[in-house]
Amino acid sequence: MRRADRGKLRTKKKTPSGITKWVMKKRRVSHAKCGICKNKLNRARLDKAQVSKLSKTQRRPSRPYPELCSKCMRAKLKGLVK
Ligand SMILES: [Zn+2]
Repeated sequence: MRRADRGKLRTKKKTPSGITKWVMKKRRVSHAKCGICKNKLNRARLDKAQVSKLSKTQRRPSRPYPELCSKCMRAKLKGLVK
């Protein structure tokens, strides 16, 4: 991280004791997207650490092409999309 970028990640926050402290902002994780149409996948918006705590079945659908949306998967199985 560059020193100039640090200000974007930190905010001042007043603690219950009245002292103002620098607090690191949580980074927003982007949505999982379909590999073909780039639409958002109907999946939990979690970062890597949170995903690692989920069970295997909660991470992704157990069907062919889990990285694609259901529409694109159907098209691919029929051979419409390469
Ligand atoms: Zn798609």
